Amino acid sequence: MRIALIICLLLGAISCRSPKEAEFSGLPFVAYVGATVIDGKGNPPKENQVILVQDNEIVRIGNKRGFQYPANTRLVNCQSKYIIPGLIDMHAHVTVLPLEDDGSLSRSFDLEASLASLQTYIDYGVTTVRNPAAPTRNGVFLRALSEEDTTYRGPRILTAGAALNWSRANFGPFVSTRTSRAIRHEIQQQAEAGVDYIKIYAGLKPSLAKEAIQAAHLEGLEVIGHLQATSWTEAIKLGIDAITHAAPWHEDYLEEASRGTYSPSMLGRLDWLERVNYDGPEIQEMIQLMADSQVVIDPTLLAFKTKFWGNDSSFTHGADTALVHPLVLEVWRNGTFVDDWTEEDFGRAQSLWPKLIELTKRMYDKGALLTVGTDFPNPWVLPGKGLIQEMLLLEEAGISRLEVIKAATYNGALALHLEDQVGALGPGLKADFVVLNEDPLKDLSNLEKIEMVIKGGKKM
Ligand SMILES: [Zn+2]
Repeated sequence: MRIALIICLLLGAISCRSPKEAEFSGLPFVAYVGATVIDGKGNPPKENQVILVQDNEIVRIGNKRGFQYPANTRLVNCQSKYIIPGLIDMHAHVTVLPLEDDGSLSRSFDLEASLASLQTYIDYGVTTVRNPAAPTRNGVFLRALSEEDTTYRGPRILTAGAALNWSRANFGPFVSTRTSRAIRHEIQQQAEAGVDYIKIYAGLKPSLAKEAIQAAHLEGLEVIGHLQATSWTEAIKLGIDAITHAAPWHEDYLEEASRGTYSPSMLGRLDWLERVNYDGPEIQEMIQLMADSQVVIDPTLLAFKTKFWGNDSSFTHGADTALVHPLVLEVWRNGTFVDDWTEEDFGRAQSLWPKLIELTKRMYDKGALLTVGTDFPNPWVLPGKGLIQEMLLLEEAGISRLEVIKAATYNGALALHLEDQVGALGPGLKADFVVLNEDPLKDLSNLEKIEMVIKGGKKM
């Protein structure tokens, strides 16, 4: 022991820790040796590294040359491999809802389909997910199961409850809250049930969004918004914490003359995209507010790609559907939001695609807290693999590969306030990482070339 310490001092290896505590606790070490490490924080990759893990934690990372291995270390050869932190999907409705007999979405989840989807998530290196709307009890149940059931194989889960909406009835993961009183009551119930977030949905007007944000904050809960009746600018001013999806689709961002004529349907969104001027003061103010307040954004570009290319059989009949539980496929085959689109509509959507992804790039350029989410199980959005596809779309938007990886790891952790636990590679963090056979910085689709996934120090 003393000799090891002296060698450490001689080598000037500041990060070289004494294995003293470890020997007391008696837990063995595992060293992943020789990989190029991409730390998730956007730093340049480091070659020939050793990641030393004990139990569920990274204890030390350093260059292979001169690395001091504690006694009792099992070596895992990672020569010529690449290691990134476990990925974070910020928009994963992992409580899978089947269809009822009448074709509507059930208000209660299917455990088997949910667990199967979660396994696929971990197979693709996703070690943490945020479920931003679930039937409240199902969401909390699944999170508890993921923490307590030793046979569980899937990512860590954080969850919202049912999404608060201005609708006639409760449906799927939505709960109807049409008055201030209903909002306060629902949020109190969800807080008691133990949700991690409150989700507010498209129908809530600013007065009700305000009520929800205040009530949630009083309970110590952050608010995620899928917004429509309230503009992003209004919501940010009201103190919302996170916003999902690629664009606000709100008429406030259009020139006055075209405001009354715009309909926020899926097809109407194309009109919005056609007419919106990103250099106009409304969008500019929104982007600036988003960056200044560090509201979390997950653009879920894939949820739009799969709609704009809904006539493309590579989405609808690809072999990847094998990754999807039959219950999910059944929901997709029941309706895709673009079933009534003509070839002309798809053509128009595809020509507007560059403009859609440009907004994400503009938010990123101004310094918004960009995270990566997919909106699984939106039609043709695959569990796990969808996150890698989303990362490729962010690259298509003009964001560098290293920054896209940061968005899918460290930024996600920041957004979840888990940056002292996950989302990066360093001493004291959980051992959540993915060992890859090819360099993801050469091509992000190499994120699929997975040698192994480690979550909490365990090979999944
Ligand atoms: Zn969603």
